[in-house]
Amino acid sequence: MLGQMMQQPLLISAQIAHAARYHGDGEIVSVDTEGGLHRTRWSEIERRSRRLASALTGLGLKQSDRVATLAWNNRRHLEVYFGVSGAGLVCHTINPRLFPEQLVYIFNHAHDRVLFIDKTFLPLIAAIRDKLEHLEHVVLLGGKDDEAAAKVEGLQFYEDLIEAGDETYAWPEFDENTASSLCYTSGTTGNPKGALYSHRSTVLHSMAVALPDSLGLSARDCILPVVPMFHVNAWGIPYAAAMVGARLVLPGPGLDGDSLKNLINDEKVTLAAGVPTLWKGLIDSLKKAGEKVPTLTRTVIGGSACPPSMIATFRDEYGVDTLHAWGMTETSPVGSVSTLLHKHLALSADEQAAVRAKQGRPPFGVDLRIADADGNELPRDGDTQGDLYARGHWVIDAYFNVDTPAPHVEGWFPTGDVATLDENGIVTIKDRSKDIIKSGGEWISSVELENLAMGMEGIADAAIIAARHEKWDERPLLIAVKEEGQDPSEQEILDAYQGQVASWQIPDAVVFVDQLPRNATGKVLKRTLREEYDGYLLKK
Ligand code: ADP
Repeated sequence: MLGQMMQQPLLISAQIAHAARYHGDGEIVSVDTEGGLHRTRWSEIERRSRRLASALTGLGLKQSDRVATLAWNNRRHLEVYFGVSGAGLVCHTINPRLFPEQLVYIFNHAHDRVLFIDKTFLPLIAAIRDKLEHLEHVVLLGGKDDEAAAKVEGLQFYEDLIEAGDETYAWPEFDENTASSLCYTSGTTGNPKGALYSHRSTVLHSMAVALPDSLGLSARDCILPVVPMFHVNAWGIPYAAAMVGARLVLPGPGLDGDSLKNLINDEKVTLAAGVPTLWKGLIDSLKKAGEKVPTLTRTVIGGSACPPSMIATFRDEYGVDTLHAWGMTETSPVGSVSTLLHKHLALSADEQAAVRAKQGRPPFGVDLRIADADGNELPRDGDTQGDLYARGHWVIDAYFNVDTPAPHVEGWFPTGDVATLDENGIVTIKDRSKDIIKSGGEWISSVELENLAMGMEGIADAAIIAARHEKWDERPLLIAVKEEGQDPSEQEILDAYQGQVASWQIPDAVVFVDQLPRNATGKVLKRTLREEYDGYLLKK
């Protein structure tokens, strides 16, 4: 017999067990929902998550049963992540910003039997409790609380549950392909769809997330995941942080610029991750206070295109590198991260910034390609754009519990994005395919025009939509929010596009609004904007 290596299943429990054994004294700082900072350690998180796993088994839950959460980023939510998945159950994180009807749909579709909930969200659940067909236990993430108990009948308390759990419970071993967690897409059209992750996909994704050309996570990092734990598992950071033994700062409910600034500086955060709109708040707060973020070396920004102007502000004014990342619920989510190659090191700062502003390269484990409408692969020349397809160890195979067949084309998942790839596989996302503007047979990227608008003086927020046009079918229309205290005119904004894009790509008009409509994950609701402004250019 030739030599062989050991076979061990890739399990999430192994990540937390590793954290407890090798980084047991590593600190977890948690802003609790009821206020105040709580400091704990990986060893304590592991101990309590094992007790939780034992208590859940005691409630009669069977392998792969779904356990829901409606919670902020905090230590108890972290324990639920590991306790639920570690026990062989499925941790189903739910976005509390969804509409009540969507919540009801998701709970019932997932057959959630238990719900762990932060106090903030009790009214949400009280209003729909009687419509949740499979829910048996609602557990408040905290100790006994009479005020909370009055809101939801039969409410149980997390601390009691942990107390009842068995301290000597040992993590069970099972097949690494067992389901571990479940996230629904925010579903701007139709019902939300579930992406069901496995232990194997999660562990492999964690490893990829931690790589130097991904987020480059280490035991010397202090990570602040601002991206919610109900948004694609906070981009996998909780798992990857346990695996590398990083210090973790969980921000709880306060996600405004001032709270983030104080947390970053008080806790000496080295890496923070979130969507672009959140970082706008942080930058505004830093400017107002005239403060810096001396310990912060990098921000991970994704979920929507990060405007190059934001990357430049972080770099030039705060000495912070931005890691621009692309992904989606269906890709766990990390599909690509923007870091430089060796050959880019010789480039000027501006040229490097242009590389960083793209959506980056896929880590090992994800493969990308672009194709035309008939599915024929298109060249990787950095110029030709096409539908972006992905495949890999943490890319969805089929949606959770639906009859419709997987949307795959020859084993590739269609992302719904339009992109270019260059010879190194560096992705530039041009648009969601449904948002791209088709002007007289030419395509115009709304992302590109939005990025430029976001960099203009006096603009706080911007979205580009396709508005109907008599001659060109569609033309770009800019919907903009003015920066507080500033008053740029429509003409000034349109003039500012001159020389930055081809003249036929410049928007036809600007509409000023007080704020942009956003969905539960912070993305601009372009459909809503289109419903309102679709005919704007016809009337002009
Ligand atoms: P999530 O819930 O992870 O934000 P969704 O599945 O709701 O993911 O949305 C994923 C979509 O968000 C992508 O298909 C893409 O259109 C957009 N997106 C994510 N990251 C970026 C990025 N860095 N640049 C441009 N678009 C992005």
